[in-house]
Amino acid sequence: NQFSDLELHERLQKGIDELGFEKPTEVQAQTIPQACAGTDLLVSAETGSGKTAAFVLPILERMLTVNAPRSATRALVLVPTRELARQVHQQCEQLGKFTFINAGMIVGGEDYKYQIKLLRKNPEIIIATPGRLLEHMGKREVDFSDLEVLVLDEADRMLDMGFSEDVLKIAEACKKERQTLLFSATLKQKGMRHVIKQVLNEPQELRL
Ligand code: AMP
Repeated sequence: NQFSDLELHERLQKGIDELGFEKPTEVQAQTIPQACAGTDLLVSAETGSGKTAAFVLPILERMLTVNAPRSATRALVLVPTRELARQVHQQCEQLGKFTFINAGMIVGGEDYKYQIKLLRKNPEIIIATPGRLLEHMGKREVDFSDLEVLVLDEADRMLDMGFSEDVLKIAEACKKERQTLLFSATLKQKGMRHVIKQVLNEPQELRL
C-alpha cells in the first residue's frame, strides 16, 4: 500500500513526496483508482480521512494525461464553506506544485471584481461555494460547458446549509458527459437521494 502502487504521474508523486505523505489513506487507496477510471462515485468519508487528496489527485492526473479541446475550466469542486474552500485550494496548489495547473477559489465575502478577473483566466480547477458561484454564472462570467469533473465535497453539510437548490442548478449548467464525485460523512441525509439521482450517473458507492 504505497502511493507508487497508484501509478500517478511523476509530477504528482513529487508533490506527494514533498508534502510528506508516505502511504495513501484508506479513502485514497480505494477512491483514486476508481476515480481515475472515470466512474461516478459516492464516497462516505469523514473529514480527516484524506478525502481531499482522494479527489484532487485524480483531477490533476486527468489534466496531466488527457488533453483538453480548448482552454476552459475542466474541474469544479463545490464546498459548503469558505474555510473548506481554502483547504481544498491549498491542497490543489501543494499537490500540483510541479505542474502548471491553475486552481482558483470563488467564495462569498471576497472581492467580486477580483473574482471576475480570475474567472477570465479560465483556471483549470475552480473551488467554490455555491451561492457566489451562481451569481457569477448568472452574469455569464463563467461557463461549464467543457467541464470534465464535478466534485460535491461535504455534500451533507451543503444540504444542511440549504444549498441543495443551488447545487442542482449548478450541476444542471455543467456538461452532461462528465464525471461526478460526491463525498459526504453520511448519505442518509434528508434530500440526499434526490441530489444523487439528479446529479450522478450510475454511481458506485464506496463506504469507508
Ligand atoms: P482531509 O481529510 O482531506 O481534510 O485531510 C486531513 C489531513 O490529512 C490533511 O492535513 C492532509 O494534509 C493530511 N493527509 C491527507 N492524505 C495524507 C496521507 N496520505 N498521508 C499523510 N497525511 C495525509
